[in-house]
Amino acid sequence: MRPCPEHDELGCPMTRINRVDGDGPVPCDIMLIGEAPGKTEDKKGKPFCGKSGSELTHLYLAKCANIARRNVRVDNLVKCRTNEKDRDPNTAEIEACGWILRAEIVKVKPRFIGTVGGLSTRWMLGVDMRMDKVHGFGYALSTSEFECLVMPLYHPAFGLHNTAMMRHIMEDWTRFGKMVRGDESVMWKERQ
Ligand code: URA
Repeated sequence: MRPCPEHDELGCPMTRINRVDGDGPVPCDIMLIGEAPGKTEDKKGKPFCGKSGSELTHLYLAKCANIARRNVRVDNLVKCRTNEKDRDPNTAEIEACGWILRAEIVKVKPRFIGTVGGLSTRWMLGVDMRMDKVHGFGYALSTSEFECLVMPLYHPAFGLHNTAMMRHIMEDWTRFGKMVRGDESVMWKERQ
């Protein structure tokens, strides 16, 4: 692994084989934002292409949400693998990388965003968002640069070894598919 040259000036400690940029069409109505690339993503230079990625693509997106991955822009909060143990990126790293994602969202112009995991949910909607309270609900987000509907979704890794959790995650992704199709049964919440 080698240090990330883009972030040298910012003292970013992350190392990587490949920088993992977003994958999928631009512009695109649907965007998913995960946390950070893992080992397989780092090796291949593509987001969500390892074990969690396979769950996300085939089970949650295709089967539950009824959405083909080729119609989705998939991205991450940070572009480099954090370390050998895949620790969560810290606030400084997320801040250092955030401008890339912000520019990406403006370019992609998504109408719907699924924030995959607590870190990307809080980055997108605010620090007070607790996943156990907000997952599976729709939030309308309007900034000076873009407007979209956001749904917080649990990270697929959460369900990998927990069948009960997996059932809840599947329900949320089914709701995500409904939100994208304009189904009025999706429940909306105001941000706190
Ligand atoms: N987990 C993420 O959050 N992103 C990836 O790209 C892979 C695993």
